[in-house]
Amino acid sequence: MSFQAPKGTFDWMPPRSERVLAVRDALSAPARRAGYGYIETPAFEDTGLFSRGVGESTDIVTKEMYTFVDKGGRSITLRPEGTASVVRAVLEHGLPGGPLPVKLWYSGSYYRYERAQKGRYRHFSQVGAEAIGTEDPAVDAELIVLAVDGYAALGLTGVRLLLNSLGCAECRPAYRAALQDFLRGLDLDEQTRQRIEINPLRVLDDKRPEVQAQLAGAPLVTDHLCGACKAYHEEVRTLLTAAGVTYTDDPRLVRGLDYYTRTTFEFLHDGLGSQSAVGGGGRYDGLSEMIGGPPLPSVGWALGVDRTVLAMEAEGLFDAQPATVDVFAVPLGEEARRAVFGLVVALRRAGLSADMAFGGRGVKGAMKAADRSGARFALILGDRDLAAGAVQVKDLTTAEQTAVPIAEVADVLKGKLS
Ligand code: ATP
Ligand code: MG
Repeated sequence: MSFQAPKGTFDWMPPRSERVLAVRDALSAPARRAGYGYIETPAFEDTGLFSRGVGESTDIVTKEMYTFVDKGGRSITLRPEGTASVVRAVLEHGLPGGPLPVKLWYSGSYYRYERAQKGRYRHFSQVGAEAIGTEDPAVDAELIVLAVDGYAALGLTGVRLLLNSLGCAECRPAYRAALQDFLRGLDLDEQTRQRIEINPLRVLDDKRPEVQAQLAGAPLVTDHLCGACKAYHEEVRTLLTAAGVTYTDDPRLVRGLDYYTRTTFEFLHDGLGSQSAVGGGGRYDGLSEMIGGPPLPSVGWALGVDRTVLAMEAEGLFDAQPATVDVFAVPLGEEARRAVFGLVVALRRAGLSADMAFGGRGVKGAMKAADRSGARFALILGDRDLAAGAVQVKDLTTAEQTAVPIAEVADVLKGKLS
């Protein structure tokens, strides 16, 4: 019997998996430089955290959660997103009593029972950042700039930023009512009609062309913002422009989660087909109260690691075959094998990346392994070299070969590699 990864999941395997690490590092680096601390929360939570924190009317809660009863009779859900867990942790640890905002970043696996296709998986990975407890347009702008800088650090040029404001508890109800009036007059299926009553903004997010076609004349949230929301949004836009960030105002941008207020944004990449969102986020002033906390106006984003790798591949931003090590050592004979093992250990301890031929292969097989490793240098050690206390250093790009005393090989290689 043989097994495959479950439907909608896949394995990142070397060397391509290096790209995942590179993307995770680059997307989180700007936040770390901006004072965001690292948070790690469990991969599962009480189901109620997500049904309340993400929202009963969202696709995530109605269709996409991996929920099960554990052996202690608790309803548990594999986390479909990161924000609810982060806010839960911040409340649980009493952080709102200290300096605000609490700025945190995270990275990990998320689980959604989705229709699997390219760029849409049931297990995927995100880098996220949240600034909790402060209402200040500069925080919203900071987060957006951090994401923009992360994509730029990866060399991506095709990422577009869409920006909108969803209003607040003051102005959203009137907009909601106007939108409901409009939507009730459309020709929609029963499920969508129900959605009009529960969360009409989500209808704007419906991706079906027959629905989108009817939405052309829908009232726009930006025409219904109160004075405070308008001024807030204007300030976010001004700060972004001053930071050199290009964006497109999209008054139809709503997002899949119920808790968003005011600033909402999404990053798109056109090289990905229909799964074009590489990241998104926004302000969620009401979330803390929804999960039993005090009012904590907050803003954050989550960037999709898998889709960002795909976007980079679409832009041809990766080397075909990244080198795994700088140096690959080949022993010729049993005694040489012991010496090579010691030499490789010493090189690694000296800070070089080094590997060796294992498994007692012949010279030909071992040299092939050296070539395949992508290493710059091969170290070849035979019994005669051993007697002379030297090792052959072969530059695999030029095929040039020189004998170097074993005691000096680490320094010589460091010099050549720097
Ligand atoms: P979409 O509209 O594509 O379903 P979303 O609004 O559900 O995206 P978010 O919850 O905002 O996505 O998650 C942030 C980012 O995480 C997305 O922009 C995307 O890059 C990534 N992401 C979300 N769901 C998946 C998935 N099923 N597979 C791979 N990446 C995903
Ligand atoms: Mg989704």
